[in-house]
Amino acid sequence: MIDNPCTFFVPGPTWVRPEILEEMTRPMIGHRSAEFKALFSGIRPGLRELFGTTGEVFVATSSGTGLLEAALINCVGRRVLVTTCGAFSERWLSIAQKLGLEVDRLDTEWGEAVSPDRLADHLEGRQQHYDAVTITHNETSTGVINDVESLARVVQEESPGSLILVDAVSSLAGAPMSCDAWGIDVCVSSTQKGIALPPGIAVFSVSERAFEVARERPYRGTYFDFLEFQKNAALDSVPFTPSVPHFYALARQLRDMAAETLPVRFERHRAMRALTLERTARYATPMAKLEFASPTVSALRPHRGDSEVLRSRMKKRGFTLGGGYGKWKELCFRIGHMGDISLEALSSMLDVLGEEAEQ
Ligand SMILES: *Cc1c(COP(=O)(O)O)cnc(C)c1O
Repeated sequence: MIDNPCTFFVPGPTWVRPEILEEMTRPMIGHRSAEFKALFSGIRPGLRELFGTTGEVFVATSSGTGLLEAALINCVGRRVLVTTCGAFSERWLSIAQKLGLEVDRLDTEWGEAVSPDRLADHLEGRQQHYDAVTITHNETSTGVINDVESLARVVQEESPGSLILVDAVSSLAGAPMSCDAWGIDVCVSSTQKGIALPPGIAVFSVSERAFEVARERPYRGTYFDFLEFQKNAALDSVPFTPSVPHFYALARQLRDMAAETLPVRFERHRAMRALTLERTARYATPMAKLEFASPTVSALRPHRGDSEVLRSRMKKRGFTLGGGYGKWKELCFRIGHMGDISLEALSSMLDVLGEEAEQ
């Protein structure tokens, strides 16, 4: 049995249960074999449930960023609007710029969520058409969750021809996602965050509308060509050699999530947010405005002392926390409370954090 007590509270990768690590030690199978087809077809219904879609869902052997780039390559010919509120939502921006796309940005102050009203103002009556608008569901650098449903509705009303591309890397499986109901065209997630697998694969959903746009694109790249994923998925397969051990782990994790049930899982995440904010309030201030505080990650600034010193003290006590990210690197530390972490494990860590912070 692999020994893996939960002492790891980084906002990705997250703590992985021993049972999941165990799954990854299964014997190898060929990715064109009947066994693999059975494995992959068993995974897809659970993924559909997570994404809230009856449409196409896929697994790529890459981290999430590969799929953010893929979404832009497959879906954007020319112009894209990027909504930002922190370092991860800005990643869309840098990818789009490197691809040579025409990029507009709607910036929001770090710590706040993107405002649907401001998005509406930006889109209202614009002459130029956006091929797509990007939204980051959960901004991992600031611990803010965006209201994707309202933002997507604004795009549909003000710019109905634009595809909606969503980064749900640090929210999927930790907060509800309803791609069909909300009209999301491409939704991307890594699996080392809310899905709590070791890093190495990423999952995504693609709408019919996005496939239609992709079909018209002269160049979709090779490794992440959405149409190749679609063609292969029809045969319960994937375009290139996948990380088979991760597929075993994902199959197991989806079964275990179904047993926990998604509503219970989401409630556990909300409870972890509440516990974290309540137990740290005496000695730290959340970087996120409370109304936007994320259920999967909290960025916290200690009232006294240096957050890096606090983090290294915690390390000596056996607990790993996340550091600040991007321009907030020095300013705060982050607690990842997502995936399979229990309230009990979080509470034990917060006991120790309280001792160290209030010394
Ligand atoms: C972690 C993270 C990413 C980057 O994902 P990788 O799997 O490391 O490529 C992108 N967006 C958000 C919101 C994240 O939290």
